[in-house]
Amino acid sequence: MAKQLPYDTIREIFTRFQNSEAEPKGELNHVNAYTLVVAVALSAQATDAGVNKATEKLFQIADTPQKMLDLGLEGVTEHIKTIGLFRNKAKNVIKLSQILVDDYGGEVPNSRAALVSLPGVGRKTANVVLNMWWGHPAQAVDTHIFRVGNRSGICPGKDVDAVERSIEDNIPVDFQQHAHHWLILHGRYVCKARKPVCANCIIRDLCQFEEKTE
Ligand code: SF4
Repeated sequence: MAKQLPYDTIREIFTRFQNSEAEPKGELNHVNAYTLVVAVALSAQATDAGVNKATEKLFQIADTPQKMLDLGLEGVTEHIKTIGLFRNKAKNVIKLSQILVDDYGGEVPNSRAALVSLPGVGRKTANVVLNMWWGHPAQAVDTHIFRVGNRSGICPGKDVDAVERSIEDNIPVDFQQHAHHWLILHGRYVCKARKPVCANCIIRDLCQFEEKTE
């Protein structure tokens, strides 16, 4: 784990990320807050591309909790069977849709506590929804953010909770909203797990990783 970089260095890093992509976006397809919740819940242990393939037709048929309930467990299962853990995920989608209809008038709540009370929705999923839909500076630490944070020293931590706290504590407030996507996209396309592309990395001179590639 790298040491925590100082504030000025982190500001310079995020200034570069912002200059290269001012409005970074997530890559999970969705058409409203509800389909975002479902897409993020389905993405556990699956790639965004795999989830997008499965949800393309599903969201055309069922883009509200009530329509998902009308489709039923078998229908949902059939649509998402190419995704890992699909049986369990289909059950959770039906259960969370029922709760949204019964307790929230079919709307997605704008609250972390309410979101994490839904079946299949953990803190990470809730934070993605809060960040992407409601514009909260919530940080959902996935495998890419964890790796980039620990290699570079932007937000080191021994587990995802520590990395989340490090982001909240150390990244300047004006970069908090987009930090999540900048770090994910940097990890997915540049600071890759097996072989980071350090030669093309815009923060190479600031990164503390000792095993940089040429
Ligand atoms: S220099 Fe290499 S290890 Fe450091 S952030 Fe860039 S790609 Fe990752």
